[in-house]
Formats: sequence, C-alpha cells, structure tokens
Amino acid sequence: MICPLSTGILIFVLGAVFGSFFNVCIYRIPKKKSLISPRSFCPKCQKTIPFYDNIPIISYIILKGKCRFCDESIGLRYPIVELLSSIVFILCFLKFGMHLSLLVYLVLFSICIIISFIDLDTGTIPDVLTIPGIILGISLSLFTKYIPFIKSLIGFVVGAGILLLVTILWKLLFKKEAMGGGDIKLLGMMGAFVGPVYVLFILFTGSLLGVIFGLVTRNRKLRFGPFLSMSLFLILFFGDKLLKLFS
Ligand SMILES: [Zn+2]
Repeated sequence: MICPLSTGILIFVLGAVFGSFFNVCIYRIPKKKSLISPRSFCPKCQKTIPFYDNIPIISYIILKGKCRFCDESIGLRYPIVELLSSIVFILCFLKFGMHLSLLVYLVLFSICIIISFIDLDTGTIPDVLTIPGIILGISLSLFTKYIPFIKSLIGFVVGAGILLLVTILWKLLFKKEAMGGGDIKLLGMMGAFVGPVYVLFILFTGSLLGVIFGLVTRNRKLRFGPFLSMSLFLILFFGDKLLKLFS
C-alpha cells in the first residue's frame, strides 16, 4: 500500500524540482536561449552554480539569498516559483488523485506558471508555449478520458474566438489594441483543456480579478496572463460548485 504522506512529500519535492526548471524557462525562453545548456550560472560573477547550491527552496535559505561566490542577491522570485509549483502540484494531487487526469492538469498548470511569470516580466506570452499547449490539449483529449475530443475542440474555438472578437471590436471602436495575440492563444489553450463552459467562466473570473486588482493598485498596465491562470486554477478547483449554482 502506498502511504499518502510519503506520496504527498514526494509530489511536493517533485513540484519544487519542476519549479526550479520553470525558473530556467521563465528566464531563458524570452531570450530564446537553450533550456539545457549552459548550466545555471550567477548573472554577476558568471560562475556555474554547483549542484548543492541549486536545491530548490532549501539552497536559497542556506545561502540567505546570496551567491556563494560574489554575494550578489538571488531574486526572491526563484524560491517563490519553486514553492508555488510545489503547492500547485500538491493541490492537484489532492483534487485529482493518482489518475491520468492528474498528469494532464499538471502539464496545463506548469505551462500556465511559466507563461504568467514571462508575461509579468516581458508583457508577452510566447507562441512556443501556447501553440504546443493547444495541440497538446486537443490531442490528449483523443488518448485520455479527461475531456471528450469535440468538447476540447469547441473549448479552443470558444476561448480563442471570444478574445479575438473582443480584440477586433475594440480596435474598430477605440482604434486601440485591447490585448495581445498571446492572450488569445492562451485562452484558446485553456479552452482546449477545460472545454467551452469552463473557459467562459475563466474569462469572466480572470477579467473580474484583473479589474479589481487594477482598481486597488491603480495599475493601468495589467498583464492578463497571470489573471487568466489564477482564474483557471479557481475554476478547475471550485467550478463544479459554481456550476451547481447555475443549474
Ligand atoms: Zn555570483
């Protein structure tokens, strides 16, 4: 019998290890650099980070957030992404259990974590993540039972279509861009994974979160990617309760 606690710990560690790789993706994908080589190095002193200083979360605490060689500060962002990934992995495990759908949603959330932080940094969402994500979402529906193929396809069309329509209308009315093409593809990708009904809820909740955050912080230049991702999380975890309210 598998002990739930040891499985939980294993998934937490796995989340942190993947989180460490997501950090590499977040840093290197916008710069179009290889994800594999060179190994991680300090951007100031250029020294390769030894494996014992590259343990997710723990190394940051041991090194007190500084490079071992030159004392350059390591961004708090690195352990945050690692911890966030661990938490998301654990919550997905608790929600979906040891099932094939767990793998599907872990892939989806992993892409969304990387996209959210790249969007925060650069204001763009790279096609190299969304387009394979769309293809993956639709093709996984063919091989697994997490969503029927047709629902996945319609989810993609609804997600991407509705934002495309908003963008076109906005441009006609206000002669300004409402959002980037990246957001359109991101919502299309989410639609391919969750289907047409949930994707509409994701758009609604994501927009609402964005508006509230914008009003509270008076920030007018919001990135939509992180809000859509947060919304995806909320809808996947609590959407069934929400749907019951409407039925
Ligand atoms: Zn250094």
